[in-house]
Amino acid sequence: MPECPLCGKRSDRLVKVELEGATIETCDSCARMGTRVEVKVHRHMPGYGSAGSGADIVAASAGTEFVADYGARISKAREGVGLTREELATRINEQESVLRRVEHGEMEPDKSLTRKLEVILGITLREAKKE
Ligand SMILES: [Zn+2]
Repeated sequence: MPECPLCGKRSDRLVKVELEGATIETCDSCARMGTRVEVKVHRHMPGYGSAGSGADIVAASAGTEFVADYGARISKAREGVGLTREELATRINEQESVLRRVEHGEMEPDKSLTRKLEVILGITLREAKKE
């Protein structure tokens, strides 16, 4: 079953939506955050893993750690798309206080929140662990 890249929920089918200029496939509930786009006939492309992007993200999160300036990256990217912290929190269904602590570097976002922030803001919050 495909996994929603935003909330991590497994869903029978993912809906293609446009969110902050990026086209992603999400579950029904996350699709409400974006604009639905026309779903084209799904062709299996060679070289495109059948595991889907959700599984790729999970695999990529192993052996990674948060970048030192993850909080600054989030607030900078958020301001870049013209969202207040409250608006972003509402959009990703999180408490504004949680987002504030994350942006201040007081708290590392959990897996689901990290994913939502990375997808919506188009940023990377993790990097490969250094030895
Ligand atoms: Zn979702």
